[in-house]
Formats: sequence, structure tokens, C-alpha cells
Amino acid sequence: MSDEQSKAQEAAALADSGAPTIFDKIIAKEIPVDVVYEDDVCLAFRDISKLAPTHVLVIPKVRGNLTSLSKAEESDKDTLGHCLVVANKVAKQENLGEGYRVVVNVGPNGCQSVYHLHLHVIGGVQLTWPPGVP
Ligand code: 5GP
Repeated sequence: MSDEQSKAQEAAALADSGAPTIFDKIIAKEIPVDVVYEDDVCLAFRDISKLAPTHVLVIPKVRGNLTSLSKAEESDKDTLGHCLVVANKVAKQENLGEGYRVVVNVGPNGCQSVYHLHLHVIGGVQLTWPPGVP
């Protein structure tokens, strides 16, 4: 099992506990991050372990039930749509005109390690496909 897979398995054990995550501390500015975009709904900041020249995480500032995309409900449509629009704003800001990828890892099989919904915006290089399918 890879490091990412074992991190995801550990995180899944706490997924439904309602426990705060590292992203709560980031939103509260208790942990410094490199913020690239912020508005009332979303915060976008550079991933600490970047996978490409641009690797930004877009998160809703209020997690609510959105620990994971698997918890999304009708009432989350505005937040989810807003996060996608912000992902594209970030891509434009980062000059990713040649293309980029938006990734949402979901649950242990999807290698989700932080249970606060987030979009990875990855680009700045030619990406490969498929992603991590055994
Ligand atoms: P996931 O694996 O859940 O899809 O993505 C979580 C992401 O959060 C990972 O890519 C990881 O590098 C990033 N991350 C975790 N802790 C921190 C942190 O303290 N600061 C930043 N900037 N990114 C973090």
C-alpha cells in the first residue's frame, strides 16, 4: 500500500466523527498557507506537497456536511458550483490557458486524506492520463 493510500485509510476512520481537520486551522489562519484567492465562500491556497508547478486547493470556508463529495446534497449546489468557478479563476490567475485538471478525491478508495471537501487544481505541465488506475 502506498503512503497516500495508508494516509487515506487512517483519515477515513475519523471521516464521520465531525472532528476538525487541518483545513479548519488554515481557515482560522492558525496555520500559514500561501493563499492565491479568497472570497466569502472559498479559500484557495497552494498545496504543501505540490504535484505539479501549479497545485492549488480550493475549499469551502464552511465545511458543514461537506466532509467529502460523497456527502453532497441538493442544498450544496451553490457551494459546489462556486468552488468550480473559483477553480477556473485560479487557473486563469495561474496562466493555465493550455489546460489543467480539477481533482476531487473521495473516500479511502479515492485516496482522500482530509475530510473537508476540496478541489485540487493541478497544471503548469503536460499531465498524463489515466490517473493512478492499477
Ligand atoms: P486529499 O489527499 O485529501 O485529496 O488532499 C489533501 C491535500 O491537502 C494533500 O494534497 C495535502 O498535501 C494537502 N495538505 C495537507 N495538509 C496541508 C497543510 O497543512 N498545508 C497545505 N498547504 N496543504 C496541506
